[in-house]
Amino acid sequence: MSQPISLTALEDFIASRSVRLTPDLQQAFEDDRKSFLSKAARDIVLHSIIAYNLYFLLDICLLPKTCAIAAALHFLVVTPYFIVTGLILRRQPRLLVRDGMGSLFSVLVVAQIMIIYRLNTGLADWQYQYFAVMVVIYANISQMLDMRFALFATGLNGFIYLAAILTSPCPASVKICACGLFITAALLSLEAKFRIERGHKLHFLRRLRDRLQRHEAENAASRDALTGLSNRRHLDERATVIWLAARAPAMPVAIIMLDIDHFKLFNDHYGHPAGDHCIKRVAGAISSAPRGQADLAVRFGGEEFLLLLPGATQDIALQTAERVRRAVEVMAIPHEPSPTSPVVTVSLGVATGDTAASFATILAAADTALYQAKRAGRNQVVPPFMSVEKPPQKNRRAAV
Ligand code: GH3
Ligand code: MG
Ligand code: MG
Repeated sequence: MSQPISLTALEDFIASRSVRLTPDLQQAFEDDRKSFLSKAARDIVLHSIIAYNLYFLLDICLLPKTCAIAAALHFLVVTPYFIVTGLILRRQPRLLVRDGMGSLFSVLVVAQIMIIYRLNTGLADWQYQYFAVMVVIYANISQMLDMRFALFATGLNGFIYLAAILTSPCPASVKICACGLFITAALLSLEAKFRIERGHKLHFLRRLRDRLQRHEAENAASRDALTGLSNRRHLDERATVIWLAARAPAMPVAIIMLDIDHFKLFNDHYGHPAGDHCIKRVAGAISSAPRGQADLAVRFGGEEFLLLLPGATQDIALQTAERVRRAVEVMAIPHEPSPTSPVVTVSLGVATGDTAASFATILAAADTALYQAKRAGRNQVVPPFMSVEKPPQKNRRAAV
């Protein structure tokens, strides 16, 4: 399973000079720009089709001898490939398909130019191949391919271009000039591509960092620092939302109030830091009680806790309370000075009702039940949970 993206990993990348993200960040980056890239890719396909086919006019003017072959390559091979790619990109395919098909754009055009170039050997025709250099620059700067695909396409284009030039019968001075021009254009456009891609990634990472920082700040404001449980502020917010959302029809709701027994004695005997540690462990037992996202475990104050269970019936609430009581007891945290138990225990008060009653009313009922649990001897749930045993079924045949 992938790890959540940490703020530290983000800060590290922003401070570094790399364009290589960790796999998690790369995936998040891809997801973030998927729909934007698909829209941009459609524009790129359209512009490529128009520019590429306008430039067929050059074939007509400069190299009429090979015009028919150029027309076949333009209209039967390259343009159909552009159109098919455009249709596939509308479906927002995976990066491998999107950039794999995209990187072949420039390769096909460069191959077409170099084929026509090699079919023409006149002195004036040698200028024609320079358009291949323009194609490589355009692909690297405008196509927004992933860096690896841009390197792959540039390498393949370089191979086709240099092989066609070096094996052609043109003078050495033309070959040197063409090779120098291609290599310079490829390197400079790849450098520009590197900077553009890094800029995109940095922009994405800064947005992600701001979002994570906001999320962490909101989280910190709603959590209790010692236990990590929700605090009272969060409880009030959630209660307001629940009560507003469930006015009519009213929704069942239960509140469990919970307090550590004889905690003052514990603190006095073992010291405040040990008291803090005990509160944390009790909080740990409470935090496993919520049944899902809707339930809320709260540190209500000091050594008092609360469980808010929207939608819970009395049976569920009492079962939950009993489970928490037992979970604390079986942790067996020694409590020597306690007059009621040799280990740390908790008392719990349960109140159930529905959202037709106010939050304060149900809270007060839970507090009263907690007080009764204390008075009745502690380490118990009030009202007590009775597991209803099914009466044994009568043997029908015996009854006959
Ligand atoms: P009872 O069984 O009736 O609940 O007795 P009690 O001693 O637990 O009740 P009381 O409310 O008198 O004592 C609560 C104690 O909890 C007092 C206070 O020092 C301690 N306490 C409250 N908050 C913290 C905390 O954050 N850390 C520590 N270590 N102790 C705390
Ligand atoms: Mg107490
Ligand atoms: Mg108390």
